[in-house]
Parts: sequence; structure tokens; C-alpha cells
Amino acid sequence: MDYRIGVIRGDGIGPEIVNEAVKVLDAVSSVYGFGLDYTDIDMGGCSIDKHGIPLTDEAIEAARASDAVLMGSIGGDAKTSPWYRLEPSKRPEAGLLAIRKALNLFANLRPSRLYKELKAACPLSEATAAKGFDIMMVRELTGGLYFGERYTKESDGVKTAVDTLSYSENEIRRAAVKAFEIAKKRDRKVTLVDKANVLDSSRLWRSVTSEVASDYPEVAFDTMLVDNCAMQLVKDPAQFDVILTENMFGDILSDEAAMITGSIGMLPSASLNDTKFGLYEPSGGSAPDIAGQNIANPIATILSAAMMLRFSLDQDKAADAIEQAVERTLSDGIRTGDIMSEGCEKVSTSGMGDAIVQRI
Ligand code: NAD
Repeated sequence: MDYRIGVIRGDGIGPEIVNEAVKVLDAVSSVYGFGLDYTDIDMGGCSIDKHGIPLTDEAIEAARASDAVLMGSIGGDAKTSPWYRLEPSKRPEAGLLAIRKALNLFANLRPSRLYKELKAACPLSEATAAKGFDIMMVRELTGGLYFGERYTKESDGVKTAVDTLSYSENEIRRAAVKAFEIAKKRDRKVTLVDKANVLDSSRLWRSVTSEVASDYPEVAFDTMLVDNCAMQLVKDPAQFDVILTENMFGDILSDEAAMITGSIGMLPSASLNDTKFGLYEPSGGSAPDIAGQNIANPIATILSAAMMLRFSLDQDKAADAIEQAVERTLSDGIRTGDIMSEGCEKVSTSGMGDAIVQRI
């Protein structure tokens, strides 16, 4: 079996961290007996330099023709890069918004996992950190408050600003189906986070998600109000498996869930549509301050490649192998500078990629 993988190397540390992920993918695909054909796709600042715009129609077509896309990160230093003298619709980040829209990527997956080797970095209490946690946040990405009608009006000298929060049952259903399908591959529990005591849209989320839950009797389902969830993530994150939530709540809670790991640079992410296709990328940015120095941590991108194998290619065993190799590398005390601690061996970006490949 051969898969077509689009590769957006991007800007800053992007090419360096993607190289290491490709190295790991090549190692794991030869062990598990499948092929990967890579096609380079320009997006972001490097596309502006080559084509004058952050995302061309050809790039979108190349992404569409792929089974999945692996991405480094895009963007430069906003203060010094000439890309930021362009109007906002022509800057690197506009490419990311455009590709999400063109490929209808409505579900954003942000795992948040505490590695026992990095527990010292966890800002939670020792007892809470000792229990560990492994959460998958499924955030609806293309609807809700950020995409509703908005305007500011003035009457009798008083300004009023209006933002509209609306969801159709179809938008909710497709996100809920993703969450339940993902839970089937994990600990089989979905928690819907909403504000159903106040918002009509949240009440629709509850009724539609409850309907979807009845199609998945093997997955436990419960609901939680968003304010309580913000507290529970700090108090007892081990209670969660998959958290499903709408766009704005997910925006805020996914950063909180990332922060409690203490090592945001380790976290992968994915954006999916209603086929198997997904765009996989590290949660961090292009880190222009350390680009080209072979010191960036490639683990978030390597773990994004593992997510790609699991969710777009159904190569679960190969995904497990990558995740276990990352854990073994960490427990063997191998670290890049950003997660370095006393007594560990400090390696470069490529040194980390090599160490993980050796443990596949
Ligand atoms: P950033 O995540 O790039 O960097 C923040 C800090 O974390 C920096 O000190 C950086 O050196 C460090 N860091 C980030 N990733 C690292 C890694 N893998 N290994 C070691 N250290 C790492 O955030 P920023 O500085 O706010 O943004 C820089 C650029 O990235 C901007 O142009 C921004 O728009 C862009 N950005 C892109 C994406 C994306 O491509 N999806 C996401 C966020 C930010």
C-alpha cells in the first residue's frame, strides 16, 4: 500500500523539524510495510517569496490530491520580516486560513498528554501530576462566534458591538461523529463541554451530540459546563479522555490543556474534514529566533506524523511505534535544549530525529 503525503516544510524551523518527521516516517513505513510518496507543497512565507502569494491554487490542488498533509510551521518575525509589510490577506498566516477553508477542515484535534519523564515541568500539584493525563480536545474549527455575522453600530453617540454565535445541527453532528470515532481508538469516553444553562446553541450541541452518542454504545458520554471544565482541567485532568467542544470554548480550553503539560513544544495537532484527509502540524510556531541552528525540538512534528498515520492512514501500529520510540528516547534521558534537565544528554534537532529512529 502506498500513500500520497503532501509536505509543507514552511518557514523558520519548519524545514528542519519536517526533515526529522520524514526521517521517522521512512523508518516506520519500512518496518510496517507500506510506502509513502511525498509531494512538496509551498505555503506561507516561502510561497510569498516564490509565487507572490501565501497559497496558490496549485498548492491547494496538490493538498487535495494527497491522502494527508504534514506541515512544519509558517510565518516569520512580525517586526523584521518583509512579509508583514504586506496587507493581512497576503501574509503567511493567510495561507493557513485559506487551506483550512479550501479543504473544509472543520475539526481541530489537540492532544494534551503528560509524559512521566517531563513531569517536573507540569505546573499542577505533585499529586495531580503523579496521576498523569492524556486528553484529546476536539474543537469545532469553522463555525460559531468567530465566523458569525459581526458589526458595530452607533446610536445616540453610544457604540454597540455585535458578534453572532450560530451553529447548524449538521455542523455539530459532523464534529460529534469525529469525536466519537476518535474515542473508539482511545479510552472510549467523550465529554461535551458547553454552556447549556445559558446558550441556545449549547442546547442544540447537547441534543445533537446525545443523538450521535446513541450510535456509539461502546463509548461513554457525559456533558460539562465550560466554566467547570476550566477548573476540572487544573484539579483533575485524569478524568478526561476526549473533550468535544465548539470553536471559542475549544480555542481557550485547548491552550489551557496544553499549558498544564508544561511542555507545549511537545504537542502535535491535526485538522480534519469529513473524509479521512487531515492536515497535521506541531502546536508551536516557526520560531524564527532559533531557525537554521539545528536546535529546535522536532518531537511535536514527529508526533503529528504519528497522528497522521493513525487518523488519516489507519496505520495504528506504526503510529504506536513512533509514540513508544519518543517515550523511550525521553526515558533514556535524551533532550533538545528546550526540554533539557540536569543529568540528561543534550542533542540537536537531527540528533533527536536519529535517536527516535534508532528506537523504532
Ligand atoms: P513560536 O511558537 O514560533 O515561538 C515561541 C517560543 O517557543 C520561541 O522562543 C521559540 O524559539 C520557541 N519554540 C517554538 N517551537 C519550538 C521548538 N520546536 N523547539 C524549541 N523551541 C521552540 O511562537 P511566536 O514566536 O509567537 O511565532 C513565530 C511565528 O510563528 C509567527 O510568524 C507566528 O505567526 C507563527 N505561527 C505559526 C503557526 C503555524 O504555522 N500554525 C502557529 C503559531 C505561530
